[in-house]
Amino acid sequence: MLQQVFPVCCCVFFFFFFENMFIADHHWVQTAQLFIQASLFFYFLIHTITSIKQQPRTYKCNYLADSEYIMVRHSSKYEDLLGDQRANQESKERRRIPLKLPLLQYQYICDLSTCSPKVCIVGSGPAAFYTAQSLIKARQDVEVDLYERLPVPFGLVRFGVAPDHPEVKNVINTFTQTAKHSRCSFYGNVNVGKDVSIKELQQAYHAVVLSYGAEGNRSMGVPGEDLAGVYSAKDFVGWYNGLPSCRELSPDLSCETAVILGQGNVALDVARVLLSPIDILKKTDITQPALEALAESQVRRVLVVGRRGPIQVACTIKELREMVNLPNTRPDMVAADFEGVTEALKDLPRPRKRLTELMLKTALEIPGEKEKRNKASRFWGLRFFRSPIEILADPDHNRTAGIRLGVNRLEGSGEGARAVLTGEVEDVTCGLVISSIGYKSIPIDPSVPFDSRKAIVPNNMGRIEQAAGLYCSGWLKTGPTGVIATTMNNSFDTARSMVEDMDSGTLDVSAAKTGSQSICALLEKRGVKPVTFSDWEKIDIVEMRRGEATGKPREKLLTVEEMLQVAQK
Ligand code: FAD
Repeated sequence: MLQQVFPVCCCVFFFFFFENMFIADHHWVQTAQLFIQASLFFYFLIHTITSIKQQPRTYKCNYLADSEYIMVRHSSKYEDLLGDQRANQESKERRRIPLKLPLLQYQYICDLSTCSPKVCIVGSGPAAFYTAQSLIKARQDVEVDLYERLPVPFGLVRFGVAPDHPEVKNVINTFTQTAKHSRCSFYGNVNVGKDVSIKELQQAYHAVVLSYGAEGNRSMGVPGEDLAGVYSAKDFVGWYNGLPSCRELSPDLSCETAVILGQGNVALDVARVLLSPIDILKKTDITQPALEALAESQVRRVLVVGRRGPIQVACTIKELREMVNLPNTRPDMVAADFEGVTEALKDLPRPRKRLTELMLKTALEIPGEKEKRNKASRFWGLRFFRSPIEILADPDHNRTAGIRLGVNRLEGSGEGARAVLTGEVEDVTCGLVISSIGYKSIPIDPSVPFDSRKAIVPNNMGRIEQAAGLYCSGWLKTGPTGVIATTMNNSFDTARSMVEDMDSGTLDVSAAKTGSQSICALLEKRGVKPVTFSDWEKIDIVEMRRGEATGKPREKLLTVEEMLQVAQK
């Protein structure tokens, strides 16, 4: 505006000035006129100089011949004034920006490092990506950086979801779109709490969202838990899914019977992987060492044990149906466990009713069906009303030889029923025990409040209690329950809380923050080299190429070193 007003004022001033200069007899009115004009001139001059100083820095643009793109030289993150395009990398490189506006507009590339709200998210699982997606959508000015401990993104979608569930992994496409958004950046290979503290992140960003999931493990707390042959489902799943920290697990699958404790979806994933025909698994992204071990596996019988009854199981119908339909396997239930269940069906909510009906049908199978299945060489069964009491060792006290289970009765009814030990016990011979009794979040930084009993960060709609500017989403916020869709909803809620706080001023975003610039400088000093999203894409390509050779969707890299080598090529 001033740029247009200023030249007009100058012209008016010079017109009157010269007019007055050439009038011989100066009258006092003319002198006053001259004085006012001179004052106006200096006023506009000073105003214009200050406004030019305050203007966004100008960066050089070279226009390409095809006029569809311009090349913008940048040394940081800049956004064009109207087109919401931001250079993604922080290097001094040239970048093509699609030309949506008249060329002249592009002469000013606004340095938004001084005016956009900067948010960082710890983690890059579903919670992190859904929080980022929602924030970017809700506010056109917010910039989001994701810091991930591993060099690869997507959390449990890569390292948890079963290899034979490729359709679940399609969410990666949405996450990739978010990661490639001009206002989102990914920094892998950064262990928050170790490489950089939460306090340091808080200094660099207006808000910090903790979405680092539930990487700990609930222990059974029974004698013999440390024997060889006892694994947590978390480690077992990590092993077949290529989690670097579980590479060395090499579980001994030379026994005939495996007992899984817990009856949730993770337990059924593990049972299915243990019993699936190898021809099915070899077409998935299961790791090659796991595939080889499972091909040699002697496990023929898998018992999935729960503390309570059929009406309280924690799995969903999809997972149960997959078990029922698993080729070359036979379900083996105890009909007595289902006493009274038929009568209870009518009072159950619909999803639970359908699940229970399928269980009943499987337990009390129609005649003929059983004979057909009898040819199966492997079988599985749900065992109810049992709690682990002790893992039994072999005579050398070296490894697992069995498990002692306490028999329970139920107090109360429905989903709230409580399991109470009766004092009766039952021993089951087995060489493999996998405890699938839940994941658990762990504190990563002493400055963040943590509820050790619930193993979550205490929060109110994602706002961490007594910690302004700190938020949480995903399993860290709710505890390790629910599927990706549940995580999506709770992450959207957190983003909504944050946007409300920005809008109301509860979260102050007016002061300039340095964001990733200062954090990357810190990391460099500490010898940490972050992996960008385009580095991850190099890993992705290598993995997919390796998979192609053996007819798999991908062959995952199994060590952090290998991942970094490919990323830094
Ligand atoms: P995560 O996915 O665990 O993401 C946390 C991220 O934070 C990880 O990438 C981790 O590396 C990172 N991180 C941890 N510590 C740090 C740190 N200090 N610094 C930086 N980064 C850190 N849901 C379905 O809908 N379908 C399924 O088939 C399904 N299968 C599942 C199978 C298993 C075995 C499990 C455990 C869960 C499954 N789920 C499934 C549930 C789904 O995976 C979760 O709902 C979801 O992953 C939770 O998301 P999150 O982002 O909170 O945690």
